[in-house]
Amino acid sequence: MNEPLLNAQESGTTSTDNKFRDKQITTSKPNIHGTKGVYVAGDWVDLEDCDRLFNIKNGSCKQSLSKACDACPRSQSRHAAETKDGVYDVLIIGAGCIGSSIARELSRYKLSVLVVEAADDVSQGATKGNSGIVHAGYDDTPHTVRAKYCWPGNQMFAKLDSELHFGYQRNGSLVVANTPADMKHLDALYERGQINNVKNLKILNQEELREKEPHINPQAIGALYSPDAGNLIPYEYAVALAENAADNGVVCIYSINIP
Ligand SMILES: Cc1cc2nc3c(=O)[nH]c(=O)nc-3n(C[C@H](O)[C@H](O)[C@H](O)COP(=O)(O)OP(=O)(O)OC[C@H]3O[C@@H](n4cnc5c(N)ncnc54)[C@H](O)[C@@H]3O)c2cc1C
Repeated sequence: MNEPLLNAQESGTTSTDNKFRDKQITTSKPNIHGTKGVYVAGDWVDLEDCDRLFNIKNGSCKQSLSKACDACPRSQSRHAAETKDGVYDVLIIGAGCIGSSIARELSRYKLSVLVVEAADDVSQGATKGNSGIVHAGYDDTPHTVRAKYCWPGNQMFAKLDSELHFGYQRNGSLVVANTPADMKHLDALYERGQINNVKNLKILNQEELREKEPHINPQAIGALYSPDAGNLIPYEYAVALAENAADNGVVCIYSINIP
């Protein structure tokens, strides 16, 4: 089988010999997070509506105008991690998205948690350079841990972003087929998605695909569409998790490599 299957989010979909090149593109400009609005909990919010729709009541910035802010309102436990004898209950090595997620989760409990990171900031490893796709789970080998948790994890991102505001966009994904053999592979991915309990998957024909993505390569004959796949900026995500963990009392130390 050829290897033309590209996730449209990762690939860029323009073509130089595109027979649609001269066609008037009528789609509106895409929204850009931070320009005239933001993505919140997966959906776009215009700048004018931000304050009304998602500002945190008595948020830390408002508090800090009137008095010193000793604990961020996002905090859930507001305890400090350091114990008097300098011993911690939990040591997390590495402040990528995984270490930062664990730190944030553990900060809900009355535990003293220490994060030690070799680099000089959060998100300096693989997290910094990843594509930021929040996958839906149709690609994972059935009955593996990844297959079990990808879909439920995907479904957690909207709530997570409504709490932490790292700019999650639920923009969907297209796995694009250029040949009949590719279409068979899409069928296999669809079936895998069903086994993995992934909802809302749909195989689009050429016309449906063109309607959804007018810039697609004209060779494309169909796609597997998942409306639930999303995108985020990986370092914004890791920083938001780590900041919230720190708000809750987790201690983070940088530039120390654990041997
Ligand atoms: C090119 C690319 C694209 C990707 N795209 C996606 C995607 O679109 N979607 C997706 O879900 N996944 C994607 N991934 C996978 C994803 O990036 C990783 O699964 C994820 O970043 C792993 O996070 P982590 O926190 O475990 O690792 P890291 O982000 O690498 O964090 C580990 C941290 O531990 C620190 N560390 C290591 N050893 C020590 C030590 N001894 N002492 C102290 N600190 C230490 C490192 O400095 C680092 O900061 C992609 C990966 C790559 C490479």
